[in-house]
Amino acid sequence: MNSSLIGKIEKAKRYAQERSRMRVRGLRVDFNGENDRHEVSLEGETWRCSCDFFAGWGACAHTMALERVLEGMLPRASLYQQSASGTA
Ligand SMILES: [Zn+2]
Repeated sequence: MNSSLIGKIEKAKRYAQERSRMRVRGLRVDFNGENDRHEVSLEGETWRCSCDFFAGWGACAHTMALERVLEGMLPRASLYQQSASGTA
């Protein structure tokens, strides 16, 4: 294998451990829930989900699961994380 490519792979492994280097600004996910498939998206700091629970609460198991997957790479602490650690 090309030696410069090997160097890039090593750098990628190191970067993958350093989540603070990355800020996720948007994404679209097809989420296979237990009962149905949902469309989850993030635009800037705004989550959306097609499930009924999200419509009422502005957060749901799907968005909260993705917040955990993307921990350390989101623009700011989520509403869920704030309410879990605060008094709200
Ligand atoms: Zn949802």
